[in-house]
Amino acid sequence: MAGAPETVPLFVRDPAVDRAGFAAPNRLAFLADCLADLDAGLRERGGRLVVRGGDTVAEVCGVVRQAEADEVHMAADHSAFARAREERLRQALESEGRRLYVHDAVTTVVPPGDVTPQGSDHFAVFTPYFRRWSAEPLRTPLAAPRTVRVPHGLSSERLPTSASVAGVSEGLATGGETEGRRRLGAWVSRHADAYEERHDDLAGDATSRLSPYLHFGAVSATEAVHRARSRGGAGAEAFVRQLCWRDFHRQVLAARPETAVEDYRPRHDHWRRGADAGADLKAWREGRTGYPVVDAALRQLAHEGWMHNRGRLLAASFLAKTLYVDWREGARHFLDLLVDGDVANNQLNWQWVAGTGTDTRPHRVLNPVLQGKRYDPYGAYVRRWVPELAQLPGASIHEPWKLKGLDRAAYDYPDPIVDLADGLARFRHARGRD
Ligand code: FAD
Repeated sequence: MAGAPETVPLFVRDPAVDRAGFAAPNRLAFLADCLADLDAGLRERGGRLVVRGGDTVAEVCGVVRQAEADEVHMAADHSAFARAREERLRQALESEGRRLYVHDAVTTVVPPGDVTPQGSDHFAVFTPYFRRWSAEPLRTPLAAPRTVRVPHGLSSERLPTSASVAGVSEGLATGGETEGRRRLGAWVSRHADAYEERHDDLAGDATSRLSPYLHFGAVSATEAVHRARSRGGAGAEAFVRQLCWRDFHRQVLAARPETAVEDYRPRHDHWRRGADAGADLKAWREGRTGYPVVDAALRQLAHEGWMHNRGRLLAASFLAKTLYVDWREGARHFLDLLVDGDVANNQLNWQWVAGTGTDTRPHRVLNPVLQGKRYDPYGAYVRRWVPELAQLPGASIHEPWKLKGLDRAAYDYPDPIVDLADGLARFRHARGRD
């Protein structure tokens, strides 16, 4: 592609993605912003984005024939769905004498498979992976080309718009490279220094919120590492470590694509699911479990299509460990709403929390009351998302059932749907521990 006189920047809207359940409204709207921004950037350079709708393989081959292109370049993706699509495309192109180039290093800092432990195709433990990952040479980001020439006569569908997508969360972030890079610059200069101390502060909201931009490739993870390192300091390094978690999950998924749905390390769980989980799962989804910090996190998800990492940990632990509901049910709900919803990060983080994944302490259970008091000590996060409790003072907001003399009818908030001790006993019994 380097030095090619003409290129066709192409995006295919494939209905198979919708049918497979990946096309959630929040991600479709964010993607529409990303495409519009990409098209604007290409037009500034004399090009444009070509959009086609239909089967990816048929559409790419059609454009390739029309443009008489020799090569197709695409960014790698590691889900089983994406890899099957890539293989079909490769075969179709090769049968016409053309070549497919898949660029692994576009989506990750270190591509899956580049570092492996002896005798295995992937790392199952994060710390040794991080050590090897950190020692890899870091590529230097290239500037965008000054001009882009697109062959004449190629038809394009109209670009989708975020406004035309129904069912989008009210507080959804604006997508696109311009906004993503602006956020990266602003966050590194204003917040990176304090990241280590503040990343778990629920109300402080001091993390980068770059996850959807990284998910859609609107911000490069490698560039994020460069920007953070050029700032330097412990906060920036802690942020780089989180970016390594992203690559870590990708190399697990690339080696074990079935872990998107199957337990990475089966623990012979008999999860509650379907009708058995029904009422509890419904209360959890609606943010009405009676545990304020869990409910706050789930309501943030509904409102913004995004959730703070500590909220994700608490909400997931509560569903999988305290209610002992199948982690796949929770992961599905997250994927339905998360603007950064990502097969590798979502499914493998859920497995980490459920104790079926790569966590080295698979039986740990997070207590939502203690965690609420620790990571939301003044209750400001709960007050923001659970307004019916807003009048409760300080940390008492984390245990509304304890307040004496309070007229319960005055606030419409449920009693806890489970006693924490019962939940823990059920989980321990299920895992065969006393
Ligand atoms: P920052 O704290 O600013 O971190 C910078 C970047 O590092 C993030 O944008 C993300 O790309 C990466 N990162 C941070 N933490 C993790 C992690 N634990 N695993 C992998 N990468 C990480 N992240 C997603 O991008 N998509 C998901 O679908 C997703 N689902 C999750 C589900 C559960 C149950 C849990 C516990 C975590 C999930 N995460 C997911 C990881 C993490 O919560 C988000 O990446 C993070 O909250 C995004 O906010 P941020 O960009 O402000 O993160």
